[in-house]
Amino acid sequence: MNQLEIDTLEILDRITDGFFSVDTNWNFTYINSKASQLLFRNREDLFGKNIWSEFPEAVDLPFYEQYTKAVTEQVSVQFDSFFPPLDTWFDVRAYPSANGLSVYFLDVTIKKKAVSEQQQHYKSLFEQNPDAVFSFDLQGNYLSVNSAMEQLLGYTEAEFLQISYLPLVEEAELQRTRNHYELAAAGYTQHYETKALHKDGRVIHVSVTNIPIIVDKEVVGVYGIAKDITDHKATEQQLIKSEKLSAIGQLSASIAHEIRNPLTALKGFLQIMRSSAPSKEICYYEIMADEIARIEQITGELLMVAKPQVHHFHYENLKEIFHDVNTLLSSQALMNKVNIKVHSEEIPLVYCVGHQLKQVLINLIKNAIESMPSGGNIHVFIDKTNNDEVIIIIQDQGCGIPEDLLDNIGIPFYTTKQKGTGLGMMTSFKIIESHAGSMEITSKEGEGTVVKILLPVHFVE
Ligand code: ADP
Ligand code: MG
Repeated sequence: MNQLEIDTLEILDRITDGFFSVDTNWNFTYINSKASQLLFRNREDLFGKNIWSEFPEAVDLPFYEQYTKAVTEQVSVQFDSFFPPLDTWFDVRAYPSANGLSVYFLDVTIKKKAVSEQQQHYKSLFEQNPDAVFSFDLQGNYLSVNSAMEQLLGYTEAEFLQISYLPLVEEAELQRTRNHYELAAAGYTQHYETKALHKDGRVIHVSVTNIPIIVDKEVVGVYGIAKDITDHKATEQQLIKSEKLSAIGQLSASIAHEIRNPLTALKGFLQIMRSSAPSKEICYYEIMADEIARIEQITGELLMVAKPQVHHFHYENLKEIFHDVNTLLSSQALMNKVNIKVHSEEIPLVYCVGHQLKQVLINLIKNAIESMPSGGNIHVFIDKTNNDEVIIIIQDQGCGIPEDLLDNIGIPFYTTKQKGTGLGMMTSFKIIESHAGSMEITSKEGEGTVVKILLPVHFVE
């Protein structure tokens, strides 16, 4: 060993990196003191020994692959690897030479742990988030989704990673949604509402935030956060409807009241005039009488809902009430070739205003009869639930209601019938509401309509 070699070794021994060298047979030829310290091994013990028999665990780790690469391809390599026997992360650089391989390495465990902890912090924000969180490339292809997102739309992560957001947006919303996405991809955070499609075909109202992912001042993708607002939307719709109802209801009721008195006078005088009218004019009086009767019907219905009346709640037998309704409407049903089939179970007495519930049942059965101009069956099911409620289902085989018109049912004066008033369903909704019950309509155009009523048995006003 000449002086230069001795100096070099001394320097190597003092550097703060671990350093060792191996010959072409992978036997240790030099180990500095830092390396001995980092590897927890005496230099004397390692000297001349084969690296892979001394550290057999390293064979299955990047060490073996990388060192072999350095030697066979004669290139320097750099890599990070965890070494489980020492519970340590090493940052390694290895340089090939004619005599073998020189390796420098550092213990970077603390730094690695800090980074990994930070990553886990961020990952929790993603994984544990109750809102759906996901990321896209600039074309809108999914790069990652959290489990809330899998739940929201029913696809698995693997399925998402095959597609872009485009097929998951309802067609009518596509253009608008795409505009927002493109603005986000251009660097502007977007907040908007849209309609997404669940795997099972359901439409989900979502509130979405799109945030540009910026790396080194460049947008490289887009983050998305979505919240399911379907229920919220439905409640909002309900609220608007019921506010509209009560405003219109109150106004109509006061008008109806004002119309009633003059109407009585008109009706009376009409009768007197009719009795002395020439016979060729009788038909005019009949038409007038019919029209007055219609005005009376409308004002009557309006007053019934809107005028504050004192109602008497009692425990009543719903089956008896239904029986009365059935008798009342039997001739109309017969005339229209409609059979009313009742399926009823034992039910408790229900705390209610009997004549009001009767009105609801009349309205609903009448609508059902009117929906079947060429006859058919109406099935009525009466049963109790496990929840102290009574359930009434009225099912017809009539014309049904187109889906886009379903929301109109119950709006005052909404009718599709030539002689309809458009007040029956509003009245019924109001009455069921005042009994703390619920009424739900499902319908299929051309197949029929189902009205489901739930009434609490012991509702106390
Ligand atoms: P009206 O019967 O006077 O038209 P309603 O308030 O009772 O007023 O009903 C409003 C509208 O709802 C009806 O005109 C009809 O279009 C629709 N509708 C209600 N019930 C049914 C039903 N069972 N089948 C089909 N359409 C119905
Ligand atoms: Mg009606």
